[in-house]
Amino acid sequence: MMERAVTGVVIDAAHGGEDLGNTGNGIVEKDTSLKISQYMYRRLQELGIPVALVRDSDETISNEERIRRILAPYGGESNVIVISNHVNAGGADGAEIVYALRNNNALANKIAQELELAGQNVTKVYQRRLPSDTSKDYYFIHRDTGSTQPVLIEYGYVDSNQDDKEQLKNNYDRYAEAVVKAIATYIGKSYVPELDENSYVVKSGDSLWSIANRYGITVDQLKSANGLTSNLLQVGQVLTIPKQSTEPPSESNNIYTVKVGDSLWSIANQYGTTVSILKQLNGLSSDSLSIGQKLYLPIQDDGEDSVDATYIVKSGDSLYTIAMKFNTTVNDLMALNHLKTSLLSIGQVLKIPDGSMGSIYIVKSGDSLWSIANRYGTTVASIKQKNELTSDNLSIGQILYI
Ligand SMILES: [Zn+2]
Repeated sequence: MMERAVTGVVIDAAHGGEDLGNTGNGIVEKDTSLKISQYMYRRLQELGIPVALVRDSDETISNEERIRRILAPYGGESNVIVISNHVNAGGADGAEIVYALRNNNALANKIAQELELAGQNVTKVYQRRLPSDTSKDYYFIHRDTGSTQPVLIEYGYVDSNQDDKEQLKNNYDRYAEAVVKAIATYIGKSYVPELDENSYVVKSGDSLWSIANRYGITVDQLKSANGLTSNLLQVGQVLTIPKQSTEPPSESNNIYTVKVGDSLWSIANQYGTTVSILKQLNGLSSDSLSIGQKLYLPIQDDGEDSVDATYIVKSGDSLYTIAMKFNTTVNDLMALNHLKTSLLSIGQVLKIPDGSMGSIYIVKSGDSLWSIANRYGTTVASIKQKNELTSDNLSIGQILYI
């Protein structure tokens, strides 16, 4: 791994106090910027990376004072990283990353890559020049910060024409974590997602259920280990993960132990899911399995309404993006699934309401066009026509419009 000696990282929560920054749709730039910055500060400290925060409260800061605070902790040499956190306005969508004319794009590209992995699309990684003197940077955060490596990040648009509004409200800590990971990787520090193997820091979108599932324990075990009397969690809360009993996790608890002769395909088939869902749920980058390996299976709601179309939540999803995908609304999704908050967990199974455009059916193991047509009182020909199918072959997880 490439090592870059870095004296420290300065986190700039842009704007503040009387300077709101961009606002709209319930998002105020100075507040989102502060939340992202405080998250990064805490996590970089946890990782043992020297870090300073330009402001830790809602405070008005002049440009001159901001520069002074950026340069004070570690000086202005090239081994200081400066991260300036912003949100954009202008009706477009996606993140933009601006680096200084004096730097190469290595850190900016690493940040872009991690943001994409965290579910935010990045539209631009670039340098911006002052129109009146194109030898200079456009932003003072690049221009007036000595030889440091400043990176200005616009995490998304407050007035996005796509999904940024929901992403900025719900996923800001996921994006902050992505930048933390990018910095750690860039300077060659080992990146650890959590404090240690027995601790877990609650993130946006987590539930007791999703955390218990991830560690192969029960919600009750998790609650009793932490003395919790309610199911409410707070982002940033640190949970103790109880040691598993000597018994291996039971296979009924949505965990499958790989046996001789298994493949991802055979397991997916057996449990009515897909290879790509299994890989996503278990963070697998290849198809190879080892005997005895534990795999998480998607949780099936094997209750009352098994005929309803369902959708398995994936990384980067929000209620809003799912609603758009299925031509429904966030409110309808919340009502149908009895959701009290908009927080989702990866692997969570959502019921999808029948839309005005007709029903949606997700193909399960054992289905055929004939059996599906029969179930919905329609014909094979009609389903093929509506879905523009040229053959009778179906794949598990395929979405059919009925
Ligand atoms: Zn800004």
